[in-house]
Amino acid sequence: NGQTNRADRNTLNKHKSGLVWLTGLSAGGKSTIAHGVEKRLFERGVRTYVLDGDNIRHGLNRDLSFRREDRKENIRRIAEVSKLFVDAGIIVLASFITPYPEDRKFIRDTFEGDHFYLVHVKCSIETCIRRDPKGMYAKALGGIIKDYTGISAPYFPPEDADLIIDTEAHDIEASVQCLVNLLHDRGLIPGIKAFDPSERQEKTRAEQQEIT
Ligand code: ADP
Repeated sequence: NGQTNRADRNTLNKHKSGLVWLTGLSAGGKSTIAHGVEKRLFERGVRTYVLDGDNIRHGLNRDLSFRREDRKENIRRIAEVSKLFVDAGIIVLASFITPYPEDRKFIRDTFEGDHFYLVHVKCSIETCIRRDPKGMYAKALGGIIKDYTGISAPYFPPEDADLIIDTEAHDIEASVQCLVNLLHDRGLIPGIKAFDPSERQEKTRAEQQEIT
């Protein structure tokens, strides 16, 4: 119909767009990884945007509480906003605890399984409590904050994650690399995978083996 569409924008940008949804306990590393990936991709001319509690809860969704019904509406709006970003040609990195499978399913369904990648940023509750970068666990354990995920509210780990990043087993750089690799392997950012020199060596070795 002659209108500019997502495919046109993807062609202009020389990369595809999509929604990467990072789920996991608070202090697991979602935000650190999202911003790390954004920095790497930005340097290579890939358009990304991080959505998180800071830029969503304080603006678009500031009228919503943490009650179950409002949590649902929170997710619905984030999913719809993500759809617009993806249509605009952006790789969205959404960093939200999202403890409930039904909420994650809702997002997947909104994207009809297309251009949607669920990433479980995995970390034990013990390590999250030890990290506690914002002092939230201390407050939750002290009963000052109620219904805190992992302490006084449940977290249901996904069984349908496209990628699991264990942030106790990997440092920040390796964790970032895991997610960049996913985007490469799914064809969103062709040709810009091999940042990690040790990985490049491994690849060269594998290629050499193939030749010899
Ligand atoms: P979340 O967004 O899941 O609440 P944050 O990214 O805000 O978590 O905090 C994670 C904390 O854990 C940071 O202080 C970060 O430096 C630390 N950290 C240690 N190892 C990792 C890792 N492999 N990936 C991400 N963060 C890590």
